[in-house]
Amino acid sequence: MEEKNINFNFDNSYVKLSDIFYSIQNPNKVPDPKLAVLNNDLAENLGLNAKALESDIGIDILSGNKIYEGSNPIAQAYAGHQFGYFTMLGDGRAILLGEHITPKGERVDIQLKGSGLTPYSRGGDGKAALGPMIREYIISEAMFGLGIPTTRGLAVVKTGDSIVREKIEPGAILTRIASSHIRVGTFQYAAQYTSLNNLKELADYTINRHYKEALDTENKYLYLLEEVIRKQSDLIAKWLHVGFIHGVMNTDNMSISGETIDYGPCAFIDKYDPNTVFSSIDSQGRYAYGNQPYIAAWNLARFAETLIPLLDDDKEKAVKLAQDAILKFNYIYKEKYISGMRLKLGLFTEEKEDENLIYELLGLMQKYKLDYTNTFRSLTLNKLSEEEIFEKDDFKVWNKKWSERLDKEGKSQEEVTNLMKSVNPSVIPRNHRVEEAIEAAVKKDDYSIMKKLLEVLENPYDYSDKQEEYTKLPKETKIPYRTFCGT
Ligand code: AMP
Ligand code: MG
Repeated sequence: MEEKNINFNFDNSYVKLSDIFYSIQNPNKVPDPKLAVLNNDLAENLGLNAKALESDIGIDILSGNKIYEGSNPIAQAYAGHQFGYFTMLGDGRAILLGEHITPKGERVDIQLKGSGLTPYSRGGDGKAALGPMIREYIISEAMFGLGIPTTRGLAVVKTGDSIVREKIEPGAILTRIASSHIRVGTFQYAAQYTSLNNLKELADYTINRHYKEALDTENKYLYLLEEVIRKQSDLIAKWLHVGFIHGVMNTDNMSISGETIDYGPCAFIDKYDPNTVFSSIDSQGRYAYGNQPYIAAWNLARFAETLIPLLDDDKEKAVKLAQDAILKFNYIYKEKYISGMRLKLGLFTEEKEDENLIYELLGLMQKYKLDYTNTFRSLTLNKLSEEEIFEKDDFKVWNKKWSERLDKEGKSQEEVTNLMKSVNPSVIPRNHRVEEAIEAAVKKDDYSIMKKLLEVLENPYDYSDKQEEYTKLPKETKIPYRTFCGT
C-alpha cells in the first residue's frame, strides 16, 4: 500500500493566516503505533480509503510518525476562560495536520489529539491516554447518531508509550475530524494578544469558512455574532433534550462552527436532576446539566466582547449591538428548548400550556428520581403503566393533562408514537456501558464490547430488539459516578 492510496486531499487555509495564530509543529514520533479502532463509515464519507488507513503506512500517518504529502502540521494558538479564569492556552497536545476537502467539497480539519509536545504544552506532556481517547470516540459517535452537531473520531491509535497519569496508562492518539477548530478562545486570543488587523483577519477567515452569507449583510461581524449565538443555542438545547452534560464548557471548548467539541469528563444524565455534575474537577457545579444554557450565554458574552472593535467604529454603538445580540440568547434558546421538548411529548402544535406541561413532568421526574431517557422511552412506548410512578397521584394528574392535550391535536396514536420515537432516543451511551467498553479495551485489548455498543448507538431512535439490553440501568451503588478529564 502506498501513502497516496489513503486519498487525503489537503488544502490548508489556516496556515495562510498570519503566523501569530499558530506554530509550525510536527507531531512527535511514537515508539510502536497500533490501530485500536478505525471509523470505516466516516472514512468512506470523507472519501478516504479505509483499507489504506489500516495498513502500516496508514497507521504511520494516524500516529504522526509520517507526514502525508500536502499536510502542513501546526499547533493552533488560542486562549480561554477556564472555570471563569482567563489564560493563554493553545493546542498543547494536538496537531492540526491540515484541512481535507471531501468528495462533496466540504472542508474539514484533520487533527491528531495526543501527539506530543508543542509550544503551548505549558506543564503538560502533550500526550493522551487510551481510555479518554476511546471515551471521546464513543461519545462523539453517539452524539452523531443522535443527530447533534459534533466533531468525530476517525481513528484511535495506541502509541506504544506508557504515560503517567494517576496511574501508568497506555498512550493513544485520536484522529479528530471537525468542521474547524476555531473556538471562542481563538477570538479571545486574537482580541487579547494580537492587533486589530489580526482580529479582523480571524473574523474574516471565520466568515469565509463558516458564515459566508454574512457577506451579503450590512454588518458582517454582527451577523457572525448573531449566527454563532443561534448555532450555540440550538446546540445547547439539543444537549439538554438528550440529557448530555459536556462537563468542561470553558470558552476554549466552545466551537464557533456550533459543533460539540473537546469531550473530556462528559456524560449523560441518568436520574433527572438539573444539578447533576459528573466531572471530578467541577466541585462547584459550574457546568452542571441545568447550568449549561447560562454558561453558554456567559461564554457567548465573552465572544461578543472580542468583536466589539469590529461591530462599529463608535464604541458605544458597538457595545449596544453586542449587548442586544447577547440578550437575545435566552429567548432563542428557550424557544428551541421548548419546541424540542414539545416533540418529545408527541405534540405537533404549540399551545401556551405546553411549557407547564413540560416543566411539571420534569418536576415529577426530579421528585421521584426517574431516569430521564427511560421515562421518555416509556412515555413513547406507552409503557409507563408498568412502572411505580404510574400509581402516584401527582403523576396521574399530569398524565391526564397530557392525554387531554394530545386529544386536542386529534392525531392518531401511531402518528404520536412515530413522532416521539423520532426524538426520544431509546439508547444513550450509559455511563456503566461506556466504562465497561473502555475497561475491556484498555485492560484486555478487547474492542468487541465497544464495537457492540457503537452499533446500537448508531441508530438511537430505532427502538430495535438488540437495543433493549442497553436501556437497562446499572445496579444501584452508593458511590456516585465520576468522570475525569484524563489530561
Ligand atoms: P482540554 O481540557 O483538553 O480542553 O485542554 C485544555 C488545555 O490544556 C488545552 O490548551 C490543551 O491543549 C491543554 N492540555 C491538556 N492536556 C494536556 C497535556 N497532556 N499536555 C499538554 N497540554 C495539555
Ligand atoms: Mg479544550
